[in-house]
Amino acid sequence: MIPRPQLLESPDFTEPGIEWDDTPCPLCGDRDEELRFEATDPTPRDRDRGRRFLVVRCRQCGLSYTNPRPGPESIGQFYPTDYKPHRRPRKLAQANPRGRFWERLLGRPCHERRGLLPWDGVGRLLDFGCGGGSFLKRMADQGWDVTGLDAAVGAVQNVQDQLGLRAVVGSLPHPDLRPGSFEIVTMWHSIEHVHEPLEILREAYRLLIPGGKLIIACPNIESWAFRRFGTDWFGLDVPRHLTHFTRNSLTAMLLTAGMRVESLRTIRHSDWVRSSAKLAVRSPRAHFRDQILTWKPMAKLAAWLVYAMGRSDCLIAVAERPRV
Ligand SMILES: [Zn+2]
Repeated sequence: MIPRPQLLESPDFTEPGIEWDDTPCPLCGDRDEELRFEATDPTPRDRDRGRRFLVVRCRQCGLSYTNPRPGPESIGQFYPTDYKPHRRPRKLAQANPRGRFWERLLGRPCHERRGLLPWDGVGRLLDFGCGGGSFLKRMADQGWDVTGLDAAVGAVQNVQDQLGLRAVVGSLPHPDLRPGSFEIVTMWHSIEHVHEPLEILREAYRLLIPGGKLIIACPNIESWAFRRFGTDWFGLDVPRHLTHFTRNSLTAMLLTAGMRVESLRTIRHSDWVRSSAKLAVRSPRAHFRDQILTWKPMAKLAAWLVYAMGRSDCLIAVAERPRV
């Protein structure tokens, strides 16, 4: 039994205008959950107000998730107007190889991975959670037939008006998207934001052709950085992140959705170690080591070492809709 919102210290849980959603496990549907920790919203506006959220773990399947959580009608209130992924695209770093030796040693950061799809030639691509459209633009320039999907109306309008690319507002399933009509579906840091991740993955399965690939990147709550920084870890981002994946739980959800997992590994996110250290030094409990990691060269060094240990901030999975 976990504390209900009204039992928390924060008065914000009782404020009018927010619909709270007490969810069963988003993977197995059970209600046998245990409290893992409480965390605050790291955006300055809400952190200052002390609003706290609970992250629980399902005792049946091990999935961690934010619960209770703002419901689908209320979650939008928790996105700052300048939320980074919704901004207009900046020029992306090119995915040119830096040489196989350095690539093996340092790994590619998350944003560089996005140009490298496990597909020969080009085809039809759906980007779920397309944000400002920078990835869509890059793939369209390479000859891909791209479609963006995002819940943010402004982001979709930017993609349509400023980039001239196809994008639709909403989530999955979507009436404008036909089953079996994409070779690739990508989800770059979007699956952790949705209320029904398993249903989204099942719909991605239906939208793919047999043999089509689903690529997912999301935060890794088994990372070194989460152990080091705890609730100051930048990848936690409650309440916008509703599901907190590990290798095992992401694999389990993909398999439950019918996908075959081809690969699943951890990759560096370019700046999360440093961003986490910056959040940690705000705390009176801050350690000298946190201060050191706010220094860019040290944060980069830490990120490379952690990559070598296989415990980076992000998970990246490539899964296939089986051919038969
Ligand atoms: Zn479960």
